[in-house]
Amino acid sequence: MADPRPSDLSDLSDLSDLSDRADPPDAFRDEVRGWLAANLTGEFAAARGLGGPGREHEGFELRRAWERRLGAAGWTCLGWPAAHGGRAASLEEQVVFHEEYIRADAPHRVGHIGEGLVGPTIIEFGTDEQRARFLPPIRRGDELWCQGYSEPNAGSDLAGVQTRAELTGGRWVVHGQKVWTSLAHVADWCFVLCRTEPGSRRHRGLSYLLVPMNQPGVAVRPIVQMTGGSEFNEVFFDGARTGGDNTLGAPGDGWRVAMATLGYERGAATLGQQIGFRRELDAVVAMARRTGAATDPVLRDRLVQSWIELEIMRVTALRTMTSPSAGEPGPAASIAKIYWSEWHRRLGELAMAAQGPAGLLTAAEPNEQNDAYEPNDLQRLYLFSRADTIYAGSSEIQRNIIAERVLGLPKEPRP
Ligand SMILES: Cc1cc2nc3c(=O)[nH]c(=O)nc-3n(C[C@H](O)[C@H](O)[C@H](O)COP(=O)(O)OP(=O)(O)OC[C@H]3O[C@@H](n4cnc5c(N)ncnc54)[C@H](O)[C@@H]3O)c2cc1C
Repeated sequence: MADPRPSDLSDLSDLSDLSDRADPPDAFRDEVRGWLAANLTGEFAAARGLGGPGREHEGFELRRAWERRLGAAGWTCLGWPAAHGGRAASLEEQVVFHEEYIRADAPHRVGHIGEGLVGPTIIEFGTDEQRARFLPPIRRGDELWCQGYSEPNAGSDLAGVQTRAELTGGRWVVHGQKVWTSLAHVADWCFVLCRTEPGSRRHRGLSYLLVPMNQPGVAVRPIVQMTGGSEFNEVFFDGARTGGDNTLGAPGDGWRVAMATLGYERGAATLGQQIGFRRELDAVVAMARRTGAATDPVLRDRLVQSWIELEIMRVTALRTMTSPSAGEPGPAASIAKIYWSEWHRRLGELAMAAQGPAGLLTAAEPNEQNDAYEPNDLQRLYLFSRADTIYAGSSEIQRNIIAERVLGLPKEPRP
């Protein structure tokens, strides 16, 4: 039988062109594309391509200014209801926006935790006063947020949260420690899951507090990642204060609010992310051609398989978008999370294989001036992709959800 493998890897890029052509042109896409082309100019021309996982340190102030530019033009918070200053954009429009955004090489957003996580939660659970106080600065790009859930002894088992808060003279006083808090070093506010009923256990007695970061009772200590960057942190609360009215939902009902936020974590942005994945795969293919690794039949098979799986991800995203439960948390979100994160981790491994032995060398080693290795983009992709199957719920936890909710298997024994 003839070898069915493509004789030349250019066949692969021809296929990717085909799938691009399947996108129907529409007025909304043209509007987004036109605005980005007109605005990623002048001072923002230099912002193209900056930021992203493992590269959050790049051009932060410029990206913050860009966030404000987006906000002023109404290109933040697209999915929020118009009553709360959003565009009430459909899921499809949001995906188109994310696709065009990545295609234009626009800088990675600095306000995604406010826009995508706490903002929708405030819309769902907040009082009118809380919505009026917190939503406009998120929309304008003026206030950045971080997520204070994980603790040294409460990650996958989030109900083990021990940070505590006590209401004193109408204000919450917070003590405890959070860990892995992404972007805490630049955040203005943190949403903190903490225990407010002394002696309560597990999911009960928790509250969801909105805590300002710039105060003496909050200390942020960066954690150095294996990429050399420090995007997440330890956060110590030692008598930190926030108003009694900064409780989202009822005191003691924090678990329900926290779960709603987790549901938003897997929304439209993740549906649009495959354009970024496609670019990374293209870069891996280009590297494999350059180093000659593309002549290795096993590596070629892996590249083709990777492309096929990315196409499956794309088709699945389109199907998810048209399903009645689109964007809602549940087993479908767990399946999508496992699929993309495991795929991306394999892509990281391919990125190393494509470089050949040279992939083991970095441009710089730690020395007296510089305390980190300087990985290239493909090395950084490999290193950071190890985190994909951990954050936003590890693969093991997603498999537990599928086992219990889809297959109806008995619940695993819990301590
Ligand atoms: C890049 C990155 C950014 C992050 N940003 C934030 C942030 O901004 N805010 C925040 O609050 N947290 C953040 N996290 C933390 C993240 O949510 C936790 O790392 C994650 O929930 C896992 O918790 P853990 O690290 O305590 O590991 P553990 O829960 O201790 O898990 C250790 C291992 O045991 C497995 N395991 C645990 N329980 C089970 C089980 N029941 N069955 C089978 N296997 C199990 C896990 O899958 C994992 O492999 C971030 C993490 C990363 C990597």
